[in-house]
Amino acid sequence: MSARAKLAYAALTDVGRVRAHNEDSVLAQPPLFVVADGLGGHEAGEVASAIAVETLRDHAPRRADGKSLARAVRAANREVIRAAREGVGRAGMGTTMTAVIVEGTRLAVAHVGDSRAYLLHAKHLERLTEDHSMVADMIRRGQLTETAARYHPNRSVITRALGSDPNMVADSFEVDAAPGDRLLLCSDGLTSMLEDAAIEGVLGEYRDPSVAAEMLVQAANEAGGHDNISVLVIDLEGEQRETEVAERRRIPRGLLGALGWLVAFALVVGSIGYGVYRHAQTRAYLIAENGVVAIYRGVPGSFAGVRLSWPAEKTDIAVDALPVWRQDALRDGLAVNSLARARAVADDLRSDAASRTPGITPVK
Ligand code: MG
Repeated sequence: MSARAKLAYAALTDVGRVRAHNEDSVLAQPPLFVVADGLGGHEAGEVASAIAVETLRDHAPRRADGKSLARAVRAANREVIRAAREGVGRAGMGTTMTAVIVEGTRLAVAHVGDSRAYLLHAKHLERLTEDHSMVADMIRRGQLTETAARYHPNRSVITRALGSDPNMVADSFEVDAAPGDRLLLCSDGLTSMLEDAAIEGVLGEYRDPSVAAEMLVQAANEAGGHDNISVLVIDLEGEQRETEVAERRRIPRGLLGALGWLVAFALVVGSIGYGVYRHAQTRAYLIAENGVVAIYRGVPGSFAGVRLSWPAEKTDIAVDALPVWRQDALRDGLAVNSLARARAVADDLRSDAASRTPGITPVK
């Protein structure tokens, strides 16, 4: 690949394995890339997402300007509202929207709802957008872990969308990526089925963007395909230099952007600081290990490449004896606030396992 290779990308949308219609809309028309996940059912969602994407295409800037892109998203919002009022689609239809303008390695992002933009840099996946959803708010307030959010009954409730509030504001910002970085836009049909680590693995493994897109959709379908799955994989110009960890500058737009920036800044500073270590020491998690449930102090996974966990105790609870959804939650670690809480959860699991008849698979 030459130092200034052309922008390579792939867009794929799939109905999944459960839904009758595909309500997602995608657009890959460089420099503009968009994913919109329609809401409203009865085919109204696909009307909303299609109107939103078409309107955005007509209003989007050619340059990576976050503010202008956010204005175009607002125009799309007004158009969805107007269409519903005029009897196109249905009243109450709406859509998410995650849009990116790619100008070399400079990105402008505008975003509403729970579709997402990610950046893969040196095989490390970074989430660029923050979900506007009930569970994301609870995670931000410390009331829910990422793992628990995946099983929360209100996990698909979004708090901001196009199609209802004429004064809706999109999050928008600009990002300086590095040459050869890979951008992913996707609907929640991907992220509700695959954890970030799995997405990172697929994006890092397949060099061809169309193969990577295909493998992501396939993996989401294999994991259940509960929703429509849309992915856009875009390889930025230039060759990735994996040994170099480039410093990226993110310019926030508006208050939400500024808050996001502060959170990101705090995380970066915190990741190298004592605070994270202290925090990790007070936490605990349960995880499936060698067929039984083990309790660790600390947090699952690694943080800035460092594992912050310490074995606490092993239980006699067989993972196989637990319901499938419990097994899933335990696979990557079920984080809780304290060691005492972890022991209480273990007691729950123990009685859960004891109440089930061995050898009978429950009907979900
Ligand atoms: Mg969806």
